Amino acid sequence: MADGLVDLRSDTVTKPTPAMRRAMAEAEVGDDGWGEDPTVRRLEERVAELLGKEAALFVPSGTMANQLALGVLGRPGARVVLGGRQHVLAHEAGGAAAWWGLQLHPVADPHGILDPGELAWALAAELHHWPPVALVAVENSHAAACGAIWDPGDLARLGAVCRGVPIHLDGARLWNAQVASGVSAAELAAVATTVATCLSKGLCAPAGSLLAGPADLVAEARELRHRMGGGMRQVGVLAAAGLVALEQMVERLAEDHRRARRLAAAAAECFGDPTGELAAAPTNMVLFEPPDPEAVLRTLQEEGVLASSVGPGVLRLVTHHDVDDEGIERALRALGQAARSGPGARGGQR
Ligand SMILES: *Cc1c(COP(=O)(O)O)cnc(C)c1O
Repeated sequence: MADGLVDLRSDTVTKPTPAMRRAMAEAEVGDDGWGEDPTVRRLEERVAELLGKEAALFVPSGTMANQLALGVLGRPGARVVLGGRQHVLAHEAGGAAAWWGLQLHPVADPHGILDPGELAWALAAELHHWPPVALVAVENSHAAACGAIWDPGDLARLGAVCRGVPIHLDGARLWNAQVASGVSAAELAAVATTVATCLSKGLCAPAGSLLAGPADLVAEARELRHRMGGGMRQVGVLAAAGLVALEQMVERLAEDHRRARRLAAAAAECFGDPTGELAAAPTNMVLFEPPDPEAVLRTLQEEGVLASSVGPGVLRLVTHHDVDDEGIERALRALGQAARSGPGARGGQR
């Protein structure tokens, strides 16, 4: 890497590829506020098609895509039932409450999957003087659960428990789930009413996400996007990069997954894997809880490897396009170094 660092903090650090830069320079554009940007329209149509939905809306960020879904499916005072570690709960600046007056009802999400018993209880509580449930939200792949994926069986069970309650799918990394499972994004999204997906994570576009769903809800989301200040003008320059991302950058995610498996195995060996989520780690996320996370972060940094801290005691390594096999070797050496020098680290005794 140019700066000599192996940056595994997130797949959001990826830079647009040369093909994206060319497409951006040459993009045909118009005023998207008037629905006149042909490149944005092409991207919206393409994503709707890939996700098997009627329509899609281009928005600046994944957070806005999720928040628009809450806005069109929710109403003040109602509940959103979701996994306790999901992005919507943890990393959207309190948007559900601040924008829409929604109450979040977190349930356990071992291996990224909403516990079916807890989910059924949360839904049934409505009949016992709990607030009504406006929607259920799930995340696929589930970042905080070591990039866990929902397979078609999990999704069918989800649909059966929800029985008509709308489902929003936070598919920021749905493309990773598609590549890891071999099941198409449309099939993975079929149980959901609305789907959010990001172009700027592992797919390397500089910015942009989409919300897909039924045409009437997407039209409503367009109005809310305007109200939130998310309308943009000649934004075909970004949509052009997104089209390249979808065309050229999806299949290669398998590389990131292969590299993450090596890191996950090493992290489990060094620091343990009490939940078994590391052993599964099917996509590009490696989360672990070493005895002394500050010391591990420091050792990694001394070796030129950047990790992120995503919760008290929880460290994360994320593989992506801009880290190659050589970078992974360095990260593996640095992890071993951290384990050997750390207090009570399991790797030290082996
Ligand atoms: C990154 C991410 C988002 C939000 O995307 P931003 O573009 O950063 O707002 C939503 N959900 C998940 C699971 C994410 O990882």
